[in-house]
Amino acid sequence: MIFVLPFIFAILNLFFHHMSNRIAVFPGSFDPITLGHFDIVSRALPLFDKIIIAIGQNAAKNYMFTLEERMGFIKTIFANTPKIEVHTYSGLTVNFCKEVGAQFLLRGLRNPADFEFEKAIAQANRQMEKDIETVFLLTTARYSYISSSIVRDIIRHGGDYSGLVPEGMKFNPTSK
Ligand code: ADP
Repeated sequence: MIFVLPFIFAILNLFFHHMSNRIAVFPGSFDPITLGHFDIVSRALPLFDKIIIAIGQNAAKNYMFTLEERMGFIKTIFANTPKIEVHTYSGLTVNFCKEVGAQFLLRGLRNPADFEFEKAIAQANRQMEKDIETVFLLTTARYSYISSSIVRDIIRHGGDYSGLVPEGMKFNPTSK
């Protein structure tokens, strides 16, 4: 009997650890990551034990940055933040959440248009997976005008994008 006790403790420990492990998935295109995304992730850090930044692969989309580049930027920016992991995924976001054991989906809200769009996605996701809760954070006012598409436009036309993206995003803008 005495020999099985450590196993029982180990199993209980695993069980409670899992129960208290709050994992959130922050899905997006991140083409490229902006200060807006960075703000949402940074502010969500105290709420979760782990945040998985999940870069969606959508064959129908034309990206400026390759998957490797987008992943590289995020890994560099969060290199010193152990709570953050970076993954890529394709298919339904809720299926990816189940694969990685995430109970929460994190999204940022900038304006009423984001709200309408996000509301439909969150409700459809809840319809499919009632156990995954979408958590919205309102963007910090000074970042609310920033979008990846504005950053891409500025890069395309040779403008200064440095105030819109996190420090540490190194690439050759003339190659874009
Ligand atoms: P998607 O293709 O899914 O819209 P994005 O990379 O554009 O992917 O956005 C991912 C998430 O980040 C979304 O929830 C979006 O609302 C949020 N987001 C994007 N830009 C900002 C910003 N400037 N402030 C706050 N949230 C933002």
